[in-house]
Amino acid sequence: MDYQSVIDKIRDEVRELWGQGRVADYIPALAKVDPRQFGIAVATLDGHEYSTGDAQVCFSIQSISKVFTLAMVTRHVGDDIWDAVGREPSGNPFNSLVQLEYEQGKPRNPFINAGALVVTDRLISLYPHPKDAMLEFVRSLCGNDDIYYDKEIARSERLNADRNMSLAYLMKSFGNIRNDVDTLLDVYCHQCAISMSCVDLARAFLFLSNRGVNPFSGKQVLSVSQAKRLGALMLTCGFYDESGDFAFRAGLPGKSGVGGGIAAYIPGNLAVTVWSPELNRHGNSLAGMAALEHFTTDIGNSIF
Ligand code: GLN
Repeated sequence: MDYQSVIDKIRDEVRELWGQGRVADYIPALAKVDPRQFGIAVATLDGHEYSTGDAQVCFSIQSISKVFTLAMVTRHVGDDIWDAVGREPSGNPFNSLVQLEYEQGKPRNPFINAGALVVTDRLISLYPHPKDAMLEFVRSLCGNDDIYYDKEIARSERLNADRNMSLAYLMKSFGNIRNDVDTLLDVYCHQCAISMSCVDLARAFLFLSNRGVNPFSGKQVLSVSQAKRLGALMLTCGFYDESGDFAFRAGLPGKSGVGGGIAAYIPGNLAVTVWSPELNRHGNSLAGMAALEHFTTDIGNSIF
């Protein structure tokens, strides 16, 4: 398969979508990003890599980090996490409070903000230095020791975290948050501010297409069953209230973030990542979703 020609063509096609979405501005530091950027990278399990456009530019991975923290926590606590977080699509925006009250502080899934806050809360209980542990985990997955936290974005989000604090306090009132909320928000805002390129992210997601084994180190990061479950959750919940549409269009397990990134993969085959900062009304990258739809259509391969 000539992946390079496929992604070069997609890069040219998605330009016509520029101007139709909006960069996330509820985190002021994210609003400063130049909207007209697009990168795409493919990493295959047989060791090839392809990229084009702004694929080497680092961006804020935001909610894509929810995959990494869930992987770190399920490794240690196994099925216990499912007592605290559900496994159903929410059908609601990523930062919604409504369902949480009805459902007694148990978030629908680990990929909406409420669910990710519970996962990060457990991570804080597991690791004495959670921020160091997260960076180390992500660095080991992609083999790049230069992955860093964008401190300006972390600070900017922390200063504008009223809604996430509300989610955390509401869940704490139901006994579903164990740590101090300020500590939780500090760690959460840092995980969202991890800065990576499409190329780094494609490498970091390859372990999921490899039955949980990091293809670079040969280490089993997740069991086969845990990797399967993570993929199933990405397919059903990775795009908030647009998860069904992404599955319909791209046919891949994937995870988006409000920085405009999307990471997705084909089991046993490859990881593919895109970045374009303009978002649609669901908070997912407009050109990124279109690019992945084109990608699986053009290569004639998806999980279906
Ligand atoms: N940091 C963002 C927030 O909590 C992450 C949301 C996202 O990427 N969808 O609002």
